[in-house]
Amino acid sequence: GPCTLPLEVMQQAQADLVDFGSASGGKGLGMGVMEMSHRSKPVVAVHEAALASLREILELPDNYQVLFLGGGATFQFGMIPSSLAANGQRVDYTHSGAWAKKAIADAKAVGADVNLVYDGTDNSYTTLPDPATVQSTEGSRYLHLTTNETIGGVQWKAMPSCDAPIVADMSSDFLSKPFDVSPFGLIYAGAQKNIGPAGVCVVIIRDDVLEQCNGEQINYMNYANHVKGGSMLNTPPVFQIYMVGLVLEWLKGKGGLAWASEMAEKRSGLLYDAIAEAGGGGYYSCPVDAAYRSTMNVVFRLPSEELEAKFIAEAAAQGMDGLKGHRSVGGCRASIYNAMPLEGAQALADFMREFAQKNG
Ligand code: PLP
Repeated sequence: GPCTLPLEVMQQAQADLVDFGSASGGKGLGMGVMEMSHRSKPVVAVHEAALASLREILELPDNYQVLFLGGGATFQFGMIPSSLAANGQRVDYTHSGAWAKKAIADAKAVGADVNLVYDGTDNSYTTLPDPATVQSTEGSRYLHLTTNETIGGVQWKAMPSCDAPIVADMSSDFLSKPFDVSPFGLIYAGAQKNIGPAGVCVVIIRDDVLEQCNGEQINYMNYANHVKGGSMLNTPPVFQIYMVGLVLEWLKGKGGLAWASEMAEKRSGLLYDAIAEAGGGGYYSCPVDAAYRSTMNVVFRLPSEELEAKFIAEAAAQGMDGLKGHRSVGGCRASIYNAMPLEGAQALADFMREFAQKNG
């Protein structure tokens, strides 16, 4: 599979699940982290440590607040425009594929005045605009973009320098490389790729954007209430946040974002090279513009759908699962997140060359 949680993290969680604290060798608390109150000392400590680790890894300035929220990234599709632009205010969106589409639909659903500054329909979302050409419009509350389209495999390599704050769905490439946070007014990322298990969404919001929340939403949908509550407005997804904390510790131990970036380049490089070379070239094809190919989700096609089905089945038989492209686009897709060892990508690249030779 795409391998989204490091083995070491899973093993520690296994021990802590029944006896919190026992994983580190000492005497545990005699119960699991999920059983304790979210206001208990150990759980508050876990929560605060995870927040602090994230700040440290991102070198986040003080004018950004970090929240762990429920509802995944999907809930943010509606919560963002509802908080910042529900009263018919202007917002700019870039339509880069399947995930951007959902964000746009929810912004419209809550009554924002949605303007598309980019629409990739004509190129079937296989490329992105040159960031230098992307500008927000007059009076826009924010410009939304999806830094990595998980299904289409297109990834922004640089941010536009636009007048409005950038709001970014970073669900599938968050923590995969160092980046400058200053253009971002709000960053959100569902955890289940590089951060932890599904069920928690990381939200990072800048103070000036926080002040724009108009306060007319339901309690949960107002970011300011979450900030006031120290990211514990309600009972948070405690176990998920505990896991996020472990993954962040693991990432720090590996060398943080610089390490993640080096590995992501290597892993994806192995696969894009195999696509370009296998079978003498031309056996595999990647539909994505070379300038915007994702380091997290490598999409590719074989000469026929029959061969694709055979490729996916034979790879699965060798333990390489999950290579089927999303049902909406077909083809093949290798998701290679932080927890994927380099050997995993190498094994797939080797398999691709072998398969092309045998089935060419
Ligand atoms: N945005 C992107 C880019 C995603 O890849 C996903 C899920 O895969 C989502 C949003 C939705 O996340 P969730 O399922 O956590 O709501």
